[in-house]
Amino acid sequence: MTADFEVRVHELLDRYDTPDARAAALLCDDHPADAVAFTIIESDLTSTDVTYGELSEQSSRFAAALAAAGVEAGDRVATLMGKSAELVIALVGIWRRGAVHVPLFTAFAPPAIAFRLGASAAKVVVADADQVGKLAPGDDMPADAAWQVIVVGDGAGVRFADLLATHSAAEPGAAAASVGGGGLLVELFTSGTTGTPKGVGIPVRALASFHAYQEFGLDVRADDVFWNAADPGWAYGLYYGLLAPLASGTRTLLLHAGFSAELTWRVMERFGVTNFAAAPTVYRSLRAAGEVPAGVSLRRASSAGEPLTPDVVGWSTQTLGVAVRDHYGQTEHGMFVSNAWHDDLRSDVPAGSMGKPLPGWSAAVLADDSDDPAAVRTMGRVAIDTAHSPLLWFTGYLDAPEKTAQRYTDDGRFYLTGDAGMIDEDGYFYFSSRDDDVIIMAGYRIGPFDVESVLVLHESVQEAAVVGMPDDLRGEVLEAFVVLREGFVGSKDLEGELQQIVKQKYAAHAYPRTVHFVDALPKTPSGKVQRFLLRQ
Ligand code: ATP
Ligand code: MG
Repeated sequence: MTADFEVRVHELLDRYDTPDARAAALLCDDHPADAVAFTIIESDLTSTDVTYGELSEQSSRFAAALAAAGVEAGDRVATLMGKSAELVIALVGIWRRGAVHVPLFTAFAPPAIAFRLGASAAKVVVADADQVGKLAPGDDMPADAAWQVIVVGDGAGVRFADLLATHSAAEPGAAAASVGGGGLLVELFTSGTTGTPKGVGIPVRALASFHAYQEFGLDVRADDVFWNAADPGWAYGLYYGLLAPLASGTRTLLLHAGFSAELTWRVMERFGVTNFAAAPTVYRSLRAAGEVPAGVSLRRASSAGEPLTPDVVGWSTQTLGVAVRDHYGQTEHGMFVSNAWHDDLRSDVPAGSMGKPLPGWSAAVLADDSDDPAAVRTMGRVAIDTAHSPLLWFTGYLDAPEKTAQRYTDDGRFYLTGDAGMIDEDGYFYFSSRDDDVIIMAGYRIGPFDVESVLVLHESVQEAAVVGMPDDLRGEVLEAFVVLREGFVGSKDLEGELQQIVKQKYAAHAYPRTVHFVDALPKTPSGKVQRFLLRQ
């Protein structure tokens, strides 16, 4: 880490990791009252600016309401809300009270909601009127639920707007609680790509790493219009679309509407977005949606959450004039390896690499059969060196000591991400796959991502997922699940072409023995491919 970055990392730690840290001050009250925190955009492109001063006043009223409802520091308060002004007010109110936010993604069905509310022992749920029905007692929702419901919008019961109208920022319950750097802001569940989601507690000190990534990785500058299109129900959207902008006092955009490629382009054009972040699937949808509107001009484009296939980078370079950069992280840590955009960290991106450890982090690839580093360009286990990562904040899963223990080497020094990858001679990291998804065929280790990246180069392929299926002779063989672009139909000939392209562009032995043409791939609500379901 060069001296300048080291100094900056410690400045940020000094700011957020203090014994008396007050989240509401760090995320709101310390910023100029007239500065815009969020621009909330509706689907018809009308918009409302929310300033830090307004956020301070309204969130104080909500904190007072929570206090009156019996919510104490450390209690869990969930939100089941779209990306609205009320959402941001609710969150800052929760943090002002010293309570812990439990995000619930609005696309969740009742079982996913009940699981998170139960596991976190939530006391209150703030829900949009059109979501409240999901909380009704029934097969999936317990009849003796212990949580109170606050409705945003028109609906029966306790209404959010009434609470703001009847409580005042002068009430004692509105005071910003001091929870310290180790106090929890959020209880967030992992995406559930590999099985049951795990609960992660996000302490106030994690803001140092979120803020650092916004500067180093995303290179958000004062004159940027920044937009992270991910939903704050997940780590990527919550950490970098909401927490990092609030912590740094940066204005950002929240689109109060569901995703559509067309609307995404229009928002970029109308609001002059210059710095954009989204998951790879968003970029793929944008590509599929045809021509880029003339008014779109991005200075920076970043992606994370899933492997960024090279076809997306090629497309964005050609049509947007900016190559999307791949960044890598987890709910457990946020981003820690990246093709950083900061001028002093930037370098040419070797094809397919997800970059290098960010300042404040040290990562490694450990061999499969020992806890020593794997040889250069040899696949192993991607790990974080906890001894040399001052920005690291994860201390274990909530209420799951066994799952936590599995994450560390025996000596406790390295955190194991559960991902397989490798490092090249220049220190660049390459993602291969989830540990669980690695295919071992006749003694060869094959990462599904390598094969998928080749398949999507074929003009007919929209998306592909490759898994290993048991085989008596070879241990495992590859099978591909392919979604075709519009205008193409699956056939034996096309299967042969796809097998051929893998043999030619990747490796002769690693071609899929069978290609299944499917309408869609199984995904988490956040859009991650669940290969374990394809194996079943
Ligand atoms: P679960 O842990 O519940 O199975 P999950 O791992 O998908 O779900 P997240 O924390 O949201 O939950 O995702 C982190 C994982 O996403 C990483 O461990 C990695 O497998 C994948 N990932 C994130 N960024 C990238 C990237 N740039 N390239 C490849 N994979 C990525
Ligand atoms: Mg995970």
